[in-house]
Amino acid sequence: MCESNMKRKRLYIAGLAGLGLIVLVSIYKSGSNRSSVSVIRDCFFCDFAHHRKGPPPVLEVETDEYVIFKDKYPAAKHHYLAIPKEHFDSLKALNRSHLGLVQRMEAGMMEFFRSKNIDPTKAVIGFHLPPFISVRHLHLHGIYPPSDMGIGNQISFMSSFWFKKSEDAIRELEGREL
Ligand SMILES: [Zn+2]
Ligand SMILES: [Zn+2]
Repeated sequence: MCESNMKRKRLYIAGLAGLGLIVLVSIYKSGSNRSSVSVIRDCFFCDFAHHRKGPPPVLEVETDEYVIFKDKYPAAKHHYLAIPKEHFDSLKALNRSHLGLVQRMEAGMMEFFRSKNIDPTKAVIGFHLPPFISVRHLHLHGIYPPSDMGIGNQISFMSSFWFKKSEDAIRELEGREL
């Protein structure tokens, strides 16, 4: 192959790579645009957190960042959900910058249990992982006493690849990229 042919071939490959890069960047951009919308229109957990449509559940705790309310289908006598006001599909949508949020949600759930004279270290506190999530809006379960749970719920809320305790979720987020 002569020199100019090689050159043309190299230019062609560079052009293709450039085009591929542009396509990738635009896909990535459209994806990140979607996820940067903090409140999703058709998400009833967003509605709960922002008092948008009724009848909302009673908000037991409300801060600037999250709310806590009773789970509609309690697995035990005490079963609450902490959800952020900002919309995230699940734990998988978070990066290390969300570590503080998850820590504060966990602390809020623990404090709420303490206010009910419940030792939070004896409660089950954690997140379901996709695709095992019932609602696509990040929610932290807090359940007490675990002995109330039937076998189905014991399985659903056991540490596994479908359920992650908050302490494990926090440890994992610490290792994630920004
Ligand atoms: Zn939402
Ligand atoms: Zn869940």
